[in-house]
Amino acid sequence: MTLHFDNRYAALGERFYASLKPLSLPDPASVIINNDALKQVGLNDYSTEHLLSLFSGSLLPEGSDPLAMVYSGHQFGGYSPQLGDGRGILIGQVTNAQNTLLDLHLKGAGKTPFSRMGDGRAVLRSSIREFLASEALYHLGIPTTRALGITTSSEPVRRETMERASMLMRYSESHIRFGSFEYFSYTEQHDALKILADYTLENHFEEVVSCESPYDEFLISAVKKTASLIAYWQAYGFAHGVMNTDNMSIIGQTFDYGPYGFMESYDPYYICNHSDDHGRYAFNKQPAIGLWNCQALAQALSPLTVNIKPRQVSQIYQDNFTQRYHSLMIKKLGLTQNQQNDKQLYQDLLDLLEGYHIDYTNFFRALSHFDQNDGAVSLEIIKSCAAPFDPWFDRYKARLNVEKLSDEQRHKNMLGVNPKYVLRNYLAQMAIQNSETGDFSELHRLYDVLKSPYDEQPHNERYAEEAPQWGRNLQISCSS
Ligand code: AMP
Ligand code: MG
Repeated sequence: MTLHFDNRYAALGERFYASLKPLSLPDPASVIINNDALKQVGLNDYSTEHLLSLFSGSLLPEGSDPLAMVYSGHQFGGYSPQLGDGRGILIGQVTNAQNTLLDLHLKGAGKTPFSRMGDGRAVLRSSIREFLASEALYHLGIPTTRALGITTSSEPVRRETMERASMLMRYSESHIRFGSFEYFSYTEQHDALKILADYTLENHFEEVVSCESPYDEFLISAVKKTASLIAYWQAYGFAHGVMNTDNMSIIGQTFDYGPYGFMESYDPYYICNHSDDHGRYAFNKQPAIGLWNCQALAQALSPLTVNIKPRQVSQIYQDNFTQRYHSLMIKKLGLTQNQQNDKQLYQDLLDLLEGYHIDYTNFFRALSHFDQNDGAVSLEIIKSCAAPFDPWFDRYKARLNVEKLSDEQRHKNMLGVNPKYVLRNYLAQMAIQNSETGDFSELHRLYDVLKSPYDEQPHNERYAEEAPQWGRNLQISCSS
């Protein structure tokens, strides 16, 4: 049971972090463990007891070198010069069986020099939300950090009400954020900015190291990854909720889950974060905010880059976003060839879904079974408003005629990209409510469902149902 530590970030020196140990939880109790993720990092032969100690901050494995990373960032458009891990601790970096270096990060591990007014803790509710969402996205095929496990405790913490201090252990190839570069750039520590960029290139952007202008290529690559990630969010109906630059991963993963939400009935103006009064991070703003964040990254890297103009960043981002989004959307429609009017076809469909408040996930799942010989459109989900959809279905049928695929093959393709199960807010809420009474069984069941989002799970049909009335307007805030 040895982890192979190789703490390369720690080797960068004390300007990049504060060294400190986690503050362990009293009376720790395991909430959930992710066996698949444990294997990925090489923790699968740890005993339950050891995992509990590790995930509650009382066991520091030999070779670990715990630290809180420093960073800054643009929050809701304004610059915050000093953020940093206020409650998370990078326990260390381990090399796994595939020789990939992975960060082990414990969230809720106590106060750090970057905690500001915070108590350094995370609550059970927010830990469960991160666990479920990161695993849901992972199994959908969307780049993300991954949760390893949650531990709760008897320690009270104050949020809107009294809650229980909990910890979430996660892993990722990198916890470096756009804001990590902003910190060194705006404090004019350009030597440190270069050290951090070199570290990031060597460990995560190896392909650009020997380019003529490696920092330009690094920026371009990071912009492309970000554009692609956000295209996935748009195609799958995921709203992040707090796209501050300190929550943007440099390697293009979904990162720092807070008041996120999966869209149910299609609503481009969907705001999942109750604290986002002006809708800066509304669903339909995400692509533009992604670009805004990439411009902030470009600005931060400008002491290193030689020949990149803001206009180029914008062009690269938009091209990559559009391409990826388009390819995901035509796949969702079961189209394999690119035709001129395809964009209009899905845009018009989205307008219909919006106009008639149709569930986004369930519509595409139902469409995956669509038979082109069907005279009348028989999708149950639009039954009450089928007539307005008729002209669209006529166009869709005509478009399918141009394709060479059999219905059978198209159904198969579509069922593999249009999930049956996504993490609806009300489902997370039920799992949380039960967990807060000490009953984790619903959480475990929901997690099992989300592991196979594209499979039919006859016993779990109810997890594909739209939110009941009580679960439609759940308010999720930043306080976590
Ligand atoms: P977030 O909006 O969750 O990404 O957090 C923004 C910043 O606030 C990060 O630097 C966090 O580490 C910090 N933070 C959030 N919650 C707490 C807390 N309870 N205690 C200390 N710092 C926190
Ligand atoms: Mg954050």
